[in-house]
Amino acid sequence: MTPDLVIDDAVIMTMDAGRAVIHGWVAVTAGVITGIGEGLAPDAAERVDAHGGILHPGYVSVHQHSMDALGRAGHGDAQEFFGWLFGTYYGGVLGYQAGDAARAASLTAADLARAGVTTVLDCWGVGDAGSPRARACLAATVDVAVASGLRWIVAPMVSDRLPDAWEPMLAAAPAPFRADALIAPTAAALAFAAQSLTLARGRVEVWTSTELPEMATDALLRGLAELADRAGTGITTHLCASEPGAVDVTGERAVARLARLGMLRAGTVAAHLTHTDAADRRILAASGVGAGHCASSTMFGGGGRSPLGELVAAGVAVGLGLDNATLNTTADMVGEMRHAVMFDRAAGSGPVRATAADLFAHATIEGARALGMAGRIGSIELGKRADLVLLDTAGSHWEPRRDPATAIVLQSRADDIRAVWVDGEPVYAR
Ligand SMILES: [Zn+2]
Repeated sequence: MTPDLVIDDAVIMTMDAGRAVIHGWVAVTAGVITGIGEGLAPDAAERVDAHGGILHPGYVSVHQHSMDALGRAGHGDAQEFFGWLFGTYYGGVLGYQAGDAARAASLTAADLARAGVTTVLDCWGVGDAGSPRARACLAATVDVAVASGLRWIVAPMVSDRLPDAWEPMLAAAPAPFRADALIAPTAAALAFAAQSLTLARGRVEVWTSTELPEMATDALLRGLAELADRAGTGITTHLCASEPGAVDVTGERAVARLARLGMLRAGTVAAHLTHTDAADRRILAASGVGAGHCASSTMFGGGGRSPLGELVAAGVAVGLGLDNATLNTTADMVGEMRHAVMFDRAAGSGPVRATAADLFAHATIEGARALGMAGRIGSIELGKRADLVLLDTAGSHWEPRRDPATAIVLQSRADDIRAVWVDGEPVYAR
């Protein structure tokens, strides 16, 4: 069968188990990688000449918030976490109607495609979960996600309780913030999660999610796990993103609580994990939970601890997350990898410091592993989906260079990206 697409004369970073780099061609048939080789490339319906540029697997952003894209202008001042969450994030999204959600999703889609991010896990929320407004915003987001061609996982966040300790911060937050917009009755939250699962189509998946475990009762968490298990989807939440957040309001460790409620398994993605202890990490690793490391947003939010090293040392799969546009304005995976290297050197937690090349793996195959999707995406190997990024490496900033992974993280610029495919279909070209 003649391939639909052949990309020839490329330096191919396979990101396979041996991290093989070969100079040659990749063939794509019906969205799947069906040939990789050196020497003469086969005939194909379409041929792309890479001119010796780098071809690598699409980036994976394992934790992001598409709805925050409209808020990214003008947040140069330092803020406390709750001032940011209630004032900046919710102060923005609570006013959204469907058209605003579509615009936020469209900006996110454009940013991701030009940054070479082919898969994103989008912790989605505009507040008032289950309301007609939230449903219309979600439907509009899914329409944009489908049209974008990206592999987009939408995970609507639902919550049904607020910690007592938050009362002073909730009271201090200025309008248009409303504390009642953060939560819904348990049954309504679960109904919204269940209805949301029916919106999956094309390359858009829908997962279940809660915003923070301390904002969810046991009944809600158990219900979300059951919904996900029945639908065969993943689950995601922010987890242990602060010292208080590592412990539930009852005093139980948050990780132990999620394990007790059936939330932790392969296909569960926990964002941040900046404040786990060794017992937490043993549970996470043993249950196959993936981690979302968000270096830029953590630093911008004032966080002083990079959990990358200790999570890797514990055997947890760690992907990178571009997180919020109000905390990470450029949605640029090259910048994210570079920030993650710097954060690890300045504030790293593990026994060894990560290399630049390690970060390239976290942005690709390890991100896929964190999502439980490494069988389908994350590397250029026969049988995997053809999610590909082609780089122009002609610029002077590429010289001299040694291995391509280190060069991408430390020398490349986001606008070196020349073309991006998902399932072999073009989603960006310049
Ligand atoms: Zn987040």
